[in-house]
Amino acid sequence: MTRPIRVEINHSALRHNYLQSRKQTSGRRALAVIKADAYGHGSLGCAQALADMADGFALLNIEDAIALRQAGIQQDIILLEGPFDRAEVEAMATYRIGGAIHSPHQIAWLREGSLPGPVEVWLKINSGMNRLGFRPEQVAATLARLQSLPQVHTSTIMTHFATADDARGVAAQWQAFAPVAAASGLAVSAANSAAVFRHPQTHGDVVRPGITLYGCSPFAECHGAALGLQTTMTLSADIIATQQLQAGDTVGYGLNFRAEHAMRIGIVACGYADGYPRIAANGTPVMVADQRSATVGRVSMDMLAIDLSHLPAADIGSRVELWGPNVAIEEVAAAAGTIGYELMCAIAPRVPRQLI
Ligand SMILES: *Cc1c(COP(=O)(O)O)cnc(C)c1O
Repeated sequence: MTRPIRVEINHSALRHNYLQSRKQTSGRRALAVIKADAYGHGSLGCAQALADMADGFALLNIEDAIALRQAGIQQDIILLEGPFDRAEVEAMATYRIGGAIHSPHQIAWLREGSLPGPVEVWLKINSGMNRLGFRPEQVAATLARLQSLPQVHTSTIMTHFATADDARGVAAQWQAFAPVAAASGLAVSAANSAAVFRHPQTHGDVVRPGITLYGCSPFAECHGAALGLQTTMTLSADIIATQQLQAGDTVGYGLNFRAEHAMRIGIVACGYADGYPRIAANGTPVMVADQRSATVGRVSMDMLAIDLSHLPAADIGSRVELWGPNVAIEEVAAAAGTIGYELMCAIAPRVPRQLI
């Protein structure tokens, strides 16, 4: 017997979502962002599923990038934070992997490394987010330095937006970035998923959708379905026990839920050690026996409880959708005070992944 929990990954929905994102940008090149193991979906499998349509892939780890090359992926592969040490610069050249260059110490590695071939560089600009990148006024000098290095090919200038998903938009950052981007003569890349869907002036030459590939909306006020996206990830687990409660009975740790009247509950084989958020409030939606229901009590490490009072058909062995096509991940995220990104990325390795 295996523990009855699984996360199902739908590659045809992923392909639909890639094309849906590209449709927004009238033919711009689109790098599929597959960092964080493709937001929990499996980066190699997702890259292979998109191999005949994606213009390229963006991720963080050189090891994952090399795995894509070794699996036969031919497209551009870009490391979004560039090399983390000198040895990675050499591996980038060996495996034809490009990367963001955001700081002078990375340029020193490029200069000092003995590179077996050319390295593609994306010059990263800090236009206001203040995580990574050169300031706009440093672009000319930095670009000159990069262009003096024989083995370095600087193809693209990039930045990243802090509020493309909310009402504050991209205006201030775009104003800081656009003039230096245009003056650089390089290909321009700025748009994440939110900017792909909402800020067409930032589409430039290459866009970088992430979350929308996985069917989830970047916007707080709408779900992915409203953007024409399909669900790529379904987390489900089965009921392994039921309990009949009397009025006044409590459920789980902390006595966080007290029954107001007699009710029946189901115990589901999914907990926070699987990646379901412990902080998800009483009443977080689930789907079971073709009906919506909700969690009761605090999520435990390996189990959670749901209300079955109105669901006589649900019993031991019934499958409970925790998020998926019937329970939007955005709803669960809202009940946990977080975003779909975090839930997808938090799926634990112990949860078996199945392709559907
Ligand atoms: C993660 C990331 C993206 C994709 O962001 P989404 O909001 O998931 O579309 C794009 N660019 C960079 C630099 C990133 O780190």
